[in-house]
Amino acid sequence: MENAPGCDIVAGDIKTYGMFVEGESVNSSSGGTFTTINPATGEALAEVAQGNATDVDRAVDAARQALDTKEWGGLDPSRRGQILLRIAEMIRQESEGLARLESLDVGKTLKEARSDLGYVVRTWEYFAGLSDKVEGKTIPVPGLRLDYTLVEPMGVTAHIVPWNYPLVLGSRGIAPALAAGNTAVVKPSSWSPLTTVRLAELAHKAGLPKGVLNVVTGPGAEVGGHLTRHPGIDSITFTGSLETGREVMKAAAEHVKPVVLELGGKCPNIVLEDADKDRAIRGVMRGIFTNAGQMCWAGSRLLVQESIEEEFLGDLREKTEGIVLGPGSDENSQMGPLVSKEHMQLVLEYIGKGVDEGGTLLTGGGRVVDGALVKGNFVKPTIFADVDSAMTIAKEEIFGPVLSSITFSELDEAVEIANKTEYGLCAGIWTTNLGKAHRLASEVEAGIVSINEYPITFPQTPFGGFKRSGIGREQGLDAVYSYCRVKNVNVNLL
Ligand code: NAD
Repeated sequence: MENAPGCDIVAGDIKTYGMFVEGESVNSSSGGTFTTINPATGEALAEVAQGNATDVDRAVDAARQALDTKEWGGLDPSRRGQILLRIAEMIRQESEGLARLESLDVGKTLKEARSDLGYVVRTWEYFAGLSDKVEGKTIPVPGLRLDYTLVEPMGVTAHIVPWNYPLVLGSRGIAPALAAGNTAVVKPSSWSPLTTVRLAELAHKAGLPKGVLNVVTGPGAEVGGHLTRHPGIDSITFTGSLETGREVMKAAAEHVKPVVLELGGKCPNIVLEDADKDRAIRGVMRGIFTNAGQMCWAGSRLLVQESIEEEFLGDLREKTEGIVLGPGSDENSQMGPLVSKEHMQLVLEYIGKGVDEGGTLLTGGGRVVDGALVKGNFVKPTIFADVDSAMTIAKEEIFGPVLSSITFSELDEAVEIANKTEYGLCAGIWTTNLGKAHRLASEVEAGIVSINEYPITFPQTPFGGFKRSGIGREQGLDAVYSYCRVKNVNVNLL
């Protein structure tokens, strides 16, 4: 069995990807594999090792042992940073291959996948630079005493990653965890595991000692469930659905482990009557049709001011109808397929509910049913007008290319509608009025607010949600500290 085929996938040539444990590519202990499917064609893409609880145990043991080695646990933090920088460089060198692999596995267009890879490289570079900047404090206390804090790595960190942005979301957790001196066990989604395995291989080629970064592939409930309950895990970073996030939090409670949860969203894009219309249309489209709408940050609710609604929706509809659907691997495609048949079915059910509950279907409204794309999971870019906040399509995360447009007349009403959701991840604001922009930014309940572009985030800015969109923040300086524990030391100087 070939265990490390890298990025080189050719249609019809099914290769087998092992997991990555203790510095090498390995089969699962059962010898079993599962098949990943190309979402653009419905054909088999690769075989992947089907990990289980025994494999998780082995990965956690390897990660624990690596903490006690002079090659990692005892490594000078600046040398750690140099290794992370070399990882960034190796990803950069292989970025075209990784982008192609991500595009095949997830379905996203090559343009989107290439953009993801740029973000991944910057993420590793940013956290490489922070490796030797994790500092404690001295604290003024009464009397003749010296009081200070030591900032130590947590230990073995677990990272559970969804399928929509495997490398971006994996890296934004793994890179700060390693920068702080931890080790990691990663569980990618079974729908898109290939690039995560390759990332671990590259990281070790770049000089990461064995056992520091391990990847166990396999079913969510078995592999992810065992990982989150494992007593050898010291912290859990989970990105995925609200439903699974709740399970992860319950599992973490057993051994009182800290969790970072990055969950769903139902983000509003609020367009005021004085907005730059063309710019807002581009942003709204990017916010809902990128990655075929499969984004936690999707601006899936358009809140448009009554006075411009007709013109805005007319232009938006026209531009949306010009989107070119196609396989991610085709350079001309502007929107790819959904990740799986099951997921497409869910999205189509939501579209059906939108119609049943009284939404006006402006465009789209179903899958592609004829022509060259018929075997893939292609859903037409869809816009509903006349949506009410009580409708299912305004409340639930659809995770597909479906936009729900809701009208408002005054600013207060926009705020009320924007906040009428259990989620609070992102919000977009489109206006040329500075005062209104800042007022809305302060009143919307969202962890990330973008004004006159949507959405915008960088490795150095905090990312995370309010309400049921999650707990904790990824990215930015604080992300490194969230993978650390603080020890207070007091010395009596008398
Ligand atoms: P999911 O919750 O189904 O799965 C996420 C990961 O958890 C997968 O790797 C899965 O195998 C694993 N898993 C499944 N059951 C588990 C269990 N019992 N214990 C531990 N792990 C388990 O989510 P998904 O369908 O892969 O991703 C889509 C969801 O992710 C959406 O809700 C989206 O909003 C969310 N998401 C959030 C962010 C963010 O930053 N807030 C980013 C991307 C995606």
